[in-house]
Amino acid sequence: MSAAVDAPKPNHARLTGWGRYPCAESDVYRPERRAELAAIVTANSSSLIARGAGRAYGDAAINGGHRVVDLQRLNRMLGFDARSGLLRCDAGVTISEIIDVFLPRGFFPPVTPGTRFVTLGGSIAADVHGKNHHRDSSLGTHVLWFDLMLASGEVRRCSREENAGLFWATVGGMGLTGVILEVELRLQPVESAYLEGEIIRAANLDAAIEAFERTGDEYGYSAAWIDCVAGKRSLGRSYLAVGNFASRDALPPRLRQCPLAPPPRSGPSVPFELPNFALNELSVRAFNQFIYLTHPNSRGRTWFDYRPFFYPLDSIGNWTRIYGKRGFVQYQCVWPEGESRAGLVETLEAISRSRRASFLTVLKKFGAQDGMLSFPMPGYTLALDFPVADGLLEFLDQLDEMVLRRGGRTYLAKDARMRPETFRAMYPRLGEWQQVKAAVDPEHRFSSSLARRLGMLPE
Ligand SMILES: Cc1cc2nc3c(=O)[nH]c(=O)nc-3n(C[C@H](O)[C@H](O)[C@H](O)COP(=O)(O)OP(=O)(O)OC[C@H]3O[C@@H](n4cnc5c(N)ncnc54)[C@H](O)[C@@H]3O)c2cc1C
Repeated sequence: MSAAVDAPKPNHARLTGWGRYPCAESDVYRPERRAELAAIVTANSSSLIARGAGRAYGDAAINGGHRVVDLQRLNRMLGFDARSGLLRCDAGVTISEIIDVFLPRGFFPPVTPGTRFVTLGGSIAADVHGKNHHRDSSLGTHVLWFDLMLASGEVRRCSREENAGLFWATVGGMGLTGVILEVELRLQPVESAYLEGEIIRAANLDAAIEAFERTGDEYGYSAAWIDCVAGKRSLGRSYLAVGNFASRDALPPRLRQCPLAPPPRSGPSVPFELPNFALNELSVRAFNQFIYLTHPNSRGRTWFDYRPFFYPLDSIGNWTRIYGKRGFVQYQCVWPEGESRAGLVETLEAISRSRRASFLTVLKKFGAQDGMLSFPMPGYTLALDFPVADGLLEFLDQLDEMVLRRGGRTYLAKDARMRPETFRAMYPRLGEWQQVKAAVDPEHRFSSSLARRLGMLPE
């Protein structure tokens, strides 16, 4: 297809992911119309990767020395059917925009990651999971179709029925099959913006797993904050927050007045980058002690405002500054069901021995996998944040080996450093994915720093 308009002029910029590590220079385009996007995609130039809100932690949405196309200006809402909950919109629309428009009407995204500031395109490309993965799987499950712009400029509708292979290669395919343009997604009806649930304190890892297993059928949403520096008998001590969207009638009278419109909230901001030494084992130990002690078991049911429940970090301005100038790496891994407990013990012990402290550590139970390269598998997942420091990358290689030995894997949307051979071993459907990639993009016009680092592209 020949492009009808010229590509807009790019800006040369230094880009990073959310972890601010690594960074790379690229020509960045910000098209406002689909025809401009087609001109960018089909230009006889260097490789290209789509970028949404830049919330992937590592190098998925950067393309060192090549081109990046920022999709945030292609963000129209195109249609909504309140009977079915079906929303049609551009892929540049964010989860936050969907909530702003549709929560007051009684609808919520079917899956949301731990930040609302992500685009739908970026969320499908990473096949994001939320606190309801054990019940509702990841985002791809709730997408009916999307239109994908291929390297040739051709636009293909992809669904479970039409171009199904391309659909499942794009869900979780990290932007490497093409640019997602338009999406149809089923929103879930809710009667309130509050969740009815419990805080459950767990004295150690076994208690935490027992709590996940016990509450999994009752509560659609669950996740645990876990103290990664507690050792010995307290290894894995945590608190779980579990809940379901509350019906209007179940709300206490003070919340029932405006069930879908909670009052505005504001949060603190981190005023400057903390020095690299500020986050250390001692400071994290003190912080974790504080968090654990201030989250006792709830007595009976408790009510959560959806914002701190789903998005605890979104209200803290510039929170990534706490990691200092060198940035940070998020490490998220999952183990298969039978290996999860042993994998968790092994990993938490290795972290404790290394005297590295993860400031924010989250434990969660997963259900089934969706796309060919989707991250989840039935089992437990652990997400850890480490400030970039000497020896960190070698340490994470060791964690990779341990995870791999137990049949687990790490998450591409968080990755900044995995080795290619580890990636190949962790993602057994890579060959199937590469066949689809080769069929729609034989010249590798779509590529990224992540794709080259991990050797994702077919030979
Ligand atoms: C605080 C925080 C909490 C998070 N919590 C979770 C969580 O709970 N669960 C989870 O799964 N993830 C989580 N994430 C990760 C985040 O949800 C994903 O990285 C998501 O992909 C980011 O979307 P984005 O719009 O910022 O995309 P970007 O970061 O810009 O891009 C991510 C990938 O999507 C591709 N992409 C972007 N737009 C398009 C498009 N239109 N077409 C094709 N490909 C495209 C890019 O090429 C890239 O490979 C979290 C991130 C943060 C910062």
